Amino acid sequence: AADVLTFGETMLAAQLPGPLAVGAEARTTIAGAESNVAIGLARLGHRAVWAGLVGDDEPGRLILRTLRGEGVDTSHAGVRPEAPTGGMLRERRVADLVRVHYWRRHSAASLLAPPDLAPALRAGARVLHLTGITCALGTGPLEAVRDAAAHAHAHGWTVVLDVNHRHRLWTGEEAGRALLPLLEHVTVLIASDDELPVVTGAFAERPRGEEAAVDALLAAGVREVVVKRGGEGAAFRDGDGSRHTVPALRVPVRDTVGAGDAFCAGYLSGLLDGLPPERRLDRANTLGAFAVASDGDWEGLPRRDELGLLAAAPGTTIR
Ligand code: ATP
Repeated sequence: AADVLTFGETMLAAQLPGPLAVGAEARTTIAGAESNVAIGLARLGHRAVWAGLVGDDEPGRLILRTLRGEGVDTSHAGVRPEAPTGGMLRERRVADLVRVHYWRRHSAASLLAPPDLAPALRAGARVLHLTGITCALGTGPLEAVRDAAAHAHAHGWTVVLDVNHRHRLWTGEEAGRALLPLLEHVTVLIASDDELPVVTGAFAERPRGEEAAVDALLAAGVREVVVKRGGEGAAFRDGDGSRHTVPALRVPVRDTVGAGDAFCAGYLSGLLDGLPPERRLDRANTLGAFAVASDGDWEGLPRRDELGLLAAAPGTTIR
């Protein structure tokens, strides 16, 4: 069986060093939170399955080829001829400012519905990885997430939900209402500190502040809550009262996109390896640091033998 099953929308991504409107040249790649996590896990030697839908088109072929090339299992991915693969364009508008445009409405990935996941769920996995992004794609994808969570929970898998709030797709209130019924199935909830109010937004009694929000999530049945704090690192609490805070690694910042997904892959890798919470956070911070210190969302993620690389002094040449 697989280590991790994940699914969601992966898009064609064009990276432009300047504005599109004046004809900047693009580098093409793929982008998607769940596939970033799958690639991060596969690079560390875990068996990751990505089970999303793509169109029967060139972007869809690029996505499947890239994932396979990275060692991600795509045998349960689907190709839908009736809708296109979604796309995104990232313009580096000025040195320190990036602008992102999406074409994802009515995409193949948004057609996802519970039957699409049945074979992957039957095949089984140790961990189910879910994100709030998939929940925001429409009623079919949201139902697919709910069914997968209920199935995985009933079969004793670890269910990990990364809140991953995307305000371009839905409001915080909509997200809170959609995520609330999922929580009873969630083992590990991962959120950045500013996403905690989103996920507790539909609670009957709205908690105030981070401490109260985490208390409320643990009371709702979540076993562990992991809070990402960007350049500050991350924190962990569980239902047994244990808590840990681990600072981020100090690295030069190149491109912060994908840091959250890399972090999530690192945390899942630690879980799969049976590491204690503090060392899971360490691995998560290490992958997050690789993502911010390298270009691209997933291209710079480490193989297992590279995990120690960031300990090298700045400017090191490895010969
Ligand atoms: P995104 O949505 O952009 O992928 P996020 O908001 O989900 O990111 P962050 O909290 O920004 O996630 O970052 C995730 C993790 O990446 C952090 O917990 C930390 O481990 C690592 N990280 C982020 N920024 C830095 C930084 N400047 N230096 C080192 N590590 C960082």
